[in-house]
Amino acid sequence: MAKTVIFKFGGASVKDAAGVKNLADILRNRLRKKLIIVISAMGKTTNALENLLGDKLRNKDFSLNSSILKSYHLEICKELFPENHLIFPKVENYFVLLNQELQKPISPTNYDEYYDRVICFGELLATHIVMEYLCLQEILVVWKDARELIQTDSSFRFAKVDWVKTKKRCQAQLLPILDQYPVVTQGFIGADQKGRTTTLGREGSDFTAAILAASLDAASVTIWKDVPGILNADPKKFSDTQLFEELEYKQAAEMTYYGASVIHPKTIKPLANLKIPLFVKSFLDPEAAGTKIHENSKAHQIPTIILKENQVLVSFKVKDFTFIEESHIHQVYDQLQQLKLRVNMLQIAAISISIVIDSQLFKLENLIKSLHNSFEIRYNENLQLLTILHPNEKTISAQLEGFESLLEQSTRNTYQVVRRPKLS
Ligand code: ASP
Ligand code: MG
Repeated sequence: MAKTVIFKFGGASVKDAAGVKNLADILRNRLRKKLIIVISAMGKTTNALENLLGDKLRNKDFSLNSSILKSYHLEICKELFPENHLIFPKVENYFVLLNQELQKPISPTNYDEYYDRVICFGELLATHIVMEYLCLQEILVVWKDARELIQTDSSFRFAKVDWVKTKKRCQAQLLPILDQYPVVTQGFIGADQKGRTTTLGREGSDFTAAILAASLDAASVTIWKDVPGILNADPKKFSDTQLFEELEYKQAAEMTYYGASVIHPKTIKPLANLKIPLFVKSFLDPEAAGTKIHENSKAHQIPTIILKENQVLVSFKVKDFTFIEESHIHQVYDQLQQLKLRVNMLQIAAISISIVIDSQLFKLENLIKSLHNSFEIRYNENLQLLTILHPNEKTISAQLEGFESLLEQSTRNTYQVVRRPKLS
């Protein structure tokens, strides 16, 4: 029996009407039995929804920004559908529902749950528009609400998957449809046991593709991107990049751990466990091979550069002339865990602990509030964390040119620096 194939299209691939048309072309040439198409929010919609939440938090009027986001979707629809198509009232309807959500009260304590209820609209809109367009093009597909498939716990914004229940749901609900039609569903979103919307963390649609693949023991996953595949540095930020034709799961996982944004960090593990190959291909050049991530690759090790922006360096200095002990480390890590903050880099010195974290709303304030009695806390914002895997002298010195280094760490295979541009 043929196994399922999963395609994932991210925001950049459906950012405008041309993108949606291109998606249809890619599918038309690759239609097969048992195909799932995972789609995330169009263009920068998720950021726009986050901004609406920001307006709401600051008690600013969100209606203008909400109608800008509605126009963006409607304009795309105008290029894709005849005037009287039912997608228009559908989109209008979603914005009525979104605005209703945004009328409800918000506070820092219910923020995460509120966030998920609002942020899911991006994926719901995108999948409806794409599904209707494909059907209009006579590529008949079935729309499925991912919240009926991906069951999670209730850690809103960073929900953990219940693999057993998710697998059962996917097999029961998807397999009968897949025998007849491709399925279009949303990335990134799920639901907890009570049916409340949850999300898997920003850029989580790749992970959705992997969850579905693992649940159905798929033949492969293909992530369609605006880059030719996985390169040894982000081509939008660095020149002279090289494409990996293939990578091993563990090499790809290591790259995502340090912040390579080409695939979501959680994507690799479920695929590696079942040896399901992952292809990263360009939606702009669909015939090109891209990168294949699988178990045994012959890829050689070249310096690979990963840059994380918007980093905060926080240092905790003990107050009482003692040295750093394990209990101090525990204390800091306990708080980080409670705030769901991941440490991107850690350095322990005689009297201080330094950590590097992503900048996130409220989190730094809360961290400082909870630990300022025990430590003298200092921080620097707007920094970059640069990681070089398989570094050599030349790459390191090139990356330090023009930058001030605030913290450095290196092992045989990894070099990391927290840096900011030198003021000239
Ligand atoms: N739309 C979500 C985000 O931008 C999920 C995704 O793109 O994968 O974070
Ligand atoms: Mg997105």
